[in-house]
Amino acid sequence: MRVELADIISCENKEMSQQVEIELSSFDSRLGQFPIRTKQPFAMKFANEDGKRLLIQGETEVAIGIPCDRCLEEVSRTFSIALDKEIDLTGSNEELSMENLSYMTGTSLDVDQLIFGEILVSWPMKVLCREDCKGICKRCGANLNQAECQCQKTEPDPRMAAIQDIFNKFKEV
Ligand SMILES: [Zn+2]
Ligand SMILES: [Zn+2]
Repeated sequence: MRVELADIISCENKEMSQQVEIELSSFDSRLGQFPIRTKQPFAMKFANEDGKRLLIQGETEVAIGIPCDRCLEEVSRTFSIALDKEIDLTGSNEELSMENLSYMTGTSLDVDQLIFGEILVSWPMKVLCREDCKGICKRCGANLNQAECQCQKTEPDPRMAAIQDIFNKFKEV
């Protein structure tokens, strides 16, 4: 959803609160496409400070379904978003000027773009369904958290494999 900020930008010391709907239904990035499972209306606050700065604040939570790194089962990860943004209205800070913020188009704020950026910076390096996830069998693809597959039983004991290697080396000589 977009919020038009022209009024508050042009009115010194004006404040405004607004409930904003998050339209984003999935998080699409170079990491992949992940469904948004739950989201809440986003209570946002805007404040024009002496005509110099525009403050944007708000808190919300978004839960996203991310596959476990080991077994690929979907894990619901909650992202707590606490916004505290500042837009420079004087033109003295280029980085914070409206023209250079990806979530601003003119005086219109793209809330979904803003949320997207917040999720991106807190994206987890690793996602596991549980600390001791056993993952999937590399041979048959069975989820080893649910059941042991037959492949494991035929897997050679690693210690035996090492001895086998030594024997093979002797043979080669
Ligand atoms: Zn897992
Ligand atoms: Zn298997």
